[in-house]
Amino acid sequence: NTETADFSVDEEWIKRIFRPRPDFSHKGLYGKVYIVAGSFGKMGAAVLSTKAALKTGAGLTFTVAPECGYNILQISCPEAMFIKSGDQVTSKIEIEDNSVFGIGPGIGADKETQKVLLQFLKEYAKPLILDADALNIISENEKNLKLIPKNSIITPHPKEFERLFGKSADSFARLELARQKADEHQIYIVLKDHHTQIITPDGKVHYNTTGNSGLAKGGSGDVLTGILTSLLAQGYSEEDAAVFGVWLHGKAADYAAERYSKESMLPTDLINELGTVFEKIN
Ligand code: AMP
Ligand code: MG
Repeated sequence: NTETADFSVDEEWIKRIFRPRPDFSHKGLYGKVYIVAGSFGKMGAAVLSTKAALKTGAGLTFTVAPECGYNILQISCPEAMFIKSGDQVTSKIEIEDNSVFGIGPGIGADKETQKVLLQFLKEYAKPLILDADALNIISENEKNLKLIPKNSIITPHPKEFERLFGKSADSFARLELARQKADEHQIYIVLKDHHTQIITPDGKVHYNTTGNSGLAKGGSGDVLTGILTSLLAQGYSEEDAAVFGVWLHGKAADYAAERYSKESMLPTDLINELGTVFEKIN
């Protein structure tokens, strides 16, 4: 029986969380991001999450991806460093200290990738971001849920949520189930939807108020993964990173919709509007 409390995330709330960048600072203070993403034909996912991490202010950003993405990533994200994880799919993830991992966009569910991800999670104990195919791999076996490090943030869309935790009759039942699972596994669940909900391990629910249906396109979630990993690496608590990141993502989407329309805005435009949002809250 966890205590429950619900919050609506507005700009005032975000201004309390946001930490402006001090003048006297250097890249070492803004964290090291490791984005594990991409596979042959899905390298765009790695580009989107890497760019989003960069544009959210991380000090150093690495992309762990198969070699087939080497040129793609070095050219489209020159600020990021490339670490080879295999040839066409991820078949190696090395643990890095003093860094924050965001794993999943476009990694696919190749046997080799499955094995490597589950092995990594067995050995890794720090909070990280898990999304997309990483969640699909985990949902293959209920026991895998126990491998998720405490205080990690998982970002399922409704279908991924169902694969992980089973069907719910309606969105109320789904939220209740999310509360249970966040408590059971001591994780943060970002339940992505029109109004995304952030469920904390201690039973709180934050309702996001930004974002629009222009986000209903492949690649939007990959951007969110980059944003969240970047904020966590910069030292925001898991709860603040989740709340701030989801709001930021939606707010950038609202600016992108204003500029380009919901129809034409692309996840790339959303990344480029992050600067407009930071200007507004700074
Ligand atoms: P994904 O399905 O992983 O690409 O994630 C989609 C992202 O876009 C999530 O952050 C969703 O909350 C957001 N999104 C998708 N459709 C909508 C919508 N109709 N209104 C607001 N946000 C949406
Ligand atoms: Mg996704």
